Amino acid sequence: MKVTRRTDTKPRGHIIAPQKAPPAAKAHGPLRILSIGAHPADIFDQSGGTMAHHVARGDWVGCCVLTHGARVHDKVITDAMFHRQRVPEKKRMGKLMNERADVKAMEVRRACRILGVKDIYFFGADDAVLLPTEEHVRRLASLIRELKPEVILTHFPHESGGIWSPHAAAGHIVMLAVAHAQTVEPGDRNPPHRVAQIFFWGQGAAHLAMHVFDAARSYYSDVFIDITDVVKKKLACMDLLVSQGYGGAYARKRIEISDGAFGRGGRVPYAEAFISYTSQTYRYLPLSDYTRQFARDSDHEIMARYSYRIKTW
Ligand SMILES: [Zn+2]
Repeated sequence: MKVTRRTDTKPRGHIIAPQKAPPAAKAHGPLRILSIGAHPADIFDQSGGTMAHHVARGDWVGCCVLTHGARVHDKVITDAMFHRQRVPEKKRMGKLMNERADVKAMEVRRACRILGVKDIYFFGADDAVLLPTEEHVRRLASLIRELKPEVILTHFPHESGGIWSPHAAAGHIVMLAVAHAQTVEPGDRNPPHRVAQIFFWGQGAAHLAMHVFDAARSYYSDVFIDITDVVKKKLACMDLLVSQGYGGAYARKRIEISDGAFGRGGRVPYAEAFISYTSQTYRYLPLSDYTRQFARDSDHEIMARYSYRIKTW
């Protein structure tokens, strides 16, 4: 057998020259952030303060509510019927649920107005059994191709251990949709879109590890956003979620135990916490202004900072 030998010593193929650093943030324009929640309250509860910050900075912030949420903590459907002998018959119940879904959607619109969020997408899934079905994934992928978010804020897919938690199911739907959005869909004229980063909502004191599945937790919140300057806005949003009993006392308790606990973790009065999906690349080592300042503060200075409480009544 004849063997042909290469006589040149140059490597075959085309080698791409090392890239320069990517353009600065300014050249990329405003960030595009999409917050996706399973239920109407989730986007505010988990990321209302962060959304308000980015709106104020001039970023595009949209939100998507996956289910109508008519059953979740609803005053009429879930609460008032709990102690009844019989619930209304099917047709009447269907009508009632549509009415409650409209009430919830109105609350979301009003709360978004407080944050300055104009683009709201009601996905309209039933909140009875939320599953990562192909239909949901394809539809959400189409929305992602259309809106082209660089950042998605959503539920951690391992919350409460699996898809029996609608929050975890929502996380699964989002992850599958993010993957599918990177390719084409016949009938969808929008080109493939790649999301740059996903920040999952961290689970604070309001979600203590109390199920057997929580024992397997091995994640931690690696990003804290100081929302102290906008926490009253967030409270005002929560106060509007009357249909599910979030207004008033609960909103205040929730802000203190969840955002207050995240704040203590982040060494500020109130914070929202996130779990980064993927590692990021930098030219220099990332160290935030907050982190540098904390290293220069004494114990008591740090404690005094995060002990601050807003007047809520
Ligand atoms: Zn929820």
